[in-house]
Amino acid sequence: MKFKCTTASLAGRLARFIVKLGRGMGRSFPGYLFLRIGGFDCLRELSKRSKIGNILITGTNGKTTTTKMLCLLLKKDSSVSCNFDSNTVNAVATGLLGGKAEFGIFEYGIRTAKYSMPDTVCKYVDPIGVIYTTISREHTMVAGEKNPFREYFKAKRLLSAPMKKGFIICNADDPRTAFIGMEKEKDVQVAYYGLEVGLEDETPLSAPVHCPICEEKLEYSKRYLNHRGIYRCKCGFSRPEPHVKLTRLSKKDKKWEIEISSETCNYTSQKRISSKFKLEVPNFGIHNLYNFLCASTAYITFTPHPENIKETIIKTAQELEKFTLPPGRFEIFKLGDKTVGIGQGDNGDALKANLQVHPSDEMTLIYTTPDKGEDEIFQDHLRVIKSAKPMKIHVFPGRESTSAARNYYKTIKEYFDASFHPISNKEMDKKIDEILGIIDESSTESVMVSGCGPEHLFWNKLKSKFKSTFI
Ligand SMILES: [Zn+2]
Repeated sequence: MKFKCTTASLAGRLARFIVKLGRGMGRSFPGYLFLRIGGFDCLRELSKRSKIGNILITGTNGKTTTTKMLCLLLKKDSSVSCNFDSNTVNAVATGLLGGKAEFGIFEYGIRTAKYSMPDTVCKYVDPIGVIYTTISREHTMVAGEKNPFREYFKAKRLLSAPMKKGFIICNADDPRTAFIGMEKEKDVQVAYYGLEVGLEDETPLSAPVHCPICEEKLEYSKRYLNHRGIYRCKCGFSRPEPHVKLTRLSKKDKKWEIEISSETCNYTSQKRISSKFKLEVPNFGIHNLYNFLCASTAYITFTPHPENIKETIIKTAQELEKFTLPPGRFEIFKLGDKTVGIGQGDNGDALKANLQVHPSDEMTLIYTTPDKGEDEIFQDHLRVIKSAKPMKIHVFPGRESTSAARNYYKTIKEYFDASFHPISNKEMDKKIDEILGIIDESSTESVMVSGCGPEHLFWNKLKSKFKSTFI
């Protein structure tokens, strides 16, 4: 490494060490310092520390879970450095300053191109893999500025746009991630994953889905989960054939029995992969089946030991029983006869995934709203709520604006028996106590608390207080 980069790397690693000592100090600071001293050219040098290469994982929902699953799979065959919750180039540099490994695996959240600089990250980190989970509408306001879906989608595309080698892994059933793959087929290899099972999502879409090429409304012959399914457009755009498929899905005792079938290529060994085997996974929601299939596809693509594929995937699936959910995620509890589900559902797609695992008959919904200027998110939520038909809705402000929450409440009141609880996040303890009171007093068999929140903090606090009070 050049002298400048060595100095930058030493300073960054020292900062990483200090940050580790003092909890709560900015995790991005070491990377920031490194980039200030060394600049982007040193980032390129630093990214070569991962012997086989770096992998970036992005999408609207499922990033963290997929990253965790992929780490669990790959570390059986190789050394991995896993990084979660990064959404700036500084955070990625901080991750790279950590331990040397064969693979650097980075969850990369992208809200806007300006803030996350996805093309810069791709150019200098030079990944061997970019993985897309699923893309839907979220964060329509970022730092007080409007962030239209078009821009948001473009920012996600930019993370793989500069790639000239390696693999892009895309969900074939999601027209947006599939489109990203198709666009890049001329430059790199693309591995698509998808379902091929007798499953049908009969509830309406959380938002209309338009063709990424001509913007006409897409036609679905089948939907597996919300906008993921078999689709086509009059212009010729249609779902690509997946290389890795989930070809069987049945309930067995308290588990899913699935079959994964793959016809693809392994990047590391340059071998053709053809495999088909059955395995059991925990009885989790369809969105997690997608996450597991996505992680498995990435594992099949990158493992330096393709001869282990079947054994490793089967073994990892067994470990998923005690797999801890990422913080803030939707969890279901039993409280006497009541079923109580608590966790974030920041966008229509996520709220729908929660309702897919939570019983909605005779339900009380405690709904935390989006912010001011996020009407699109609210409309997506409302579509999902309408199809669930809760008996009673308690509306709380989920993000900053209480007056925006009041307006959303007024709309909800036109359709449902609803009440408004204007408690802001500044009084989080009061808000949590009020929610726990509603759960306790509700007479319905099912209670669900979901919607937008200040990231994981609120949901974690709510879940732990719920458990310490009632369980
Ligand atoms: Zn079209």
